[in-house]
Amino acid sequence: MDTTKIRNEFPFLREMVNGQPLVYLDSAASSQKPERVIKRMSRFLESEYGNVHRGLHLLSIRSTEAYEGARTSVARFLNASSPDEIIFTRGTTEAVNLVANSWGRKHLKAGDTLLLTEMEHHSNLLPWLHLAEAIGVRVKFVPVLPNGTALDLEAARTLLKEGPKLFAIAHVPNTLGLENPVRELCRTARELGVTTLVDAAQSVGHQPVDVQNIGCDFLACSAHKMCGPTGIGALWGRRELLAEMPPWQYGGEMVERAFFDKRAIYRNAPSRFEAGTPPIMEAAGWQEALLFLNEMGLEEIHQHSTALANMAAERLNEIGRVHIFGPERRQSGIVTFSIEEIHAHDIAFFANERGVALRAGHHCAQPLMRKLGAPSSLRASFYLYNTEAEVTALVASITSAMAFFR
Ligand code: PMP
Repeated sequence: MDTTKIRNEFPFLREMVNGQPLVYLDSAASSQKPERVIKRMSRFLESEYGNVHRGLHLLSIRSTEAYEGARTSVARFLNASSPDEIIFTRGTTEAVNLVANSWGRKHLKAGDTLLLTEMEHHSNLLPWLHLAEAIGVRVKFVPVLPNGTALDLEAARTLLKEGPKLFAIAHVPNTLGLENPVRELCRTARELGVTTLVDAAQSVGHQPVDVQNIGCDFLACSAHKMCGPTGIGALWGRRELLAEMPPWQYGGEMVERAFFDKRAIYRNAPSRFEAGTPPIMEAAGWQEALLFLNEMGLEEIHQHSTALANMAAERLNEIGRVHIFGPERRQSGIVTFSIEEIHAHDIAFFANERGVALRAGHHCAQPLMRKLGAPSSLRASFYLYNTEAEVTALVASITSAMAFFR
């Protein structure tokens, strides 16, 4: 990849920290934005802004075009069979909550089982635990192999055969630097009549993701992890499933006919699930981000981020006293590690003084990190704008921190 050219598109890279260039290694938490996405949103606010679907005036028509155009772009990006299968949400978290509250409350009853994995982010864990408690549903977990090298696929198949109502799984977990074989698992689930939800927060925009190829029933993602703005994401759902799901939030725009004294008649998907004024400017920004990512090439982005993560893992390993979680070879741009006898927060604080932005803590995957024996760890995550020189800066900051805290 031509990182020099790419880096010129990202204004955040002009920032300096204590006289040193900013090395941003926290894209798994949120990615930075290229100038064209920032400009697209200000252009939208300057000359296209109105509320969507409501007015017949010029600006309402322009904003509706921008919003619905973004839906079509997201549908194409995910290879959905229709834009009607794309529901705009605030992000992955809200998309999972939508499925739990709408599909879950309709289809689950006391005594049913839900199947998750031990690798889930709290976003794909807590909505299910909360629902399970409310309805009396059992929750089971596909275990991770020791050190988090992979999911236990034998156990996954056995647990799927037990007939859970739903299987929810992260495509690329935010901690372990691996990719789960969602295509194979969703296929097995489908043969067994199990509904599937894929949390694709860390994969969409980082590698090609095709909902028809994966063969899942629902898939959730967030724009802010793929060069787009915060406040918007999507739930993709299979049309037949969305068609029979009840609303979960009620208000303007989701209703066909409302009465004082009769039950309202709700619109079809996607409107039925988008109550209230949606994130319109954000949709325009997200669409621009998708154009940008397509131009950069998703395969190339994946190869680039993964190669940098592998290089970082190898060089961190060479230092000694560094423990890296996950498989030997990285399958995503994520490296999570801990350092013997030094707290992750101390290291992150020290690295920040040298301009290196790392994530420290439990990474919103507390049960997993507890099981792996590291309630607190460090995470470096790489994306299309990172470079080999930044891997060197990372390793140098860790080496100095270890010498300092020795
Ligand atoms: N799932 C995974 C795997 C994630 O990494 C994240 C974000 N850290 C989420 C879900 C939640 O995404 P959001 O906060 O955008 O809703």
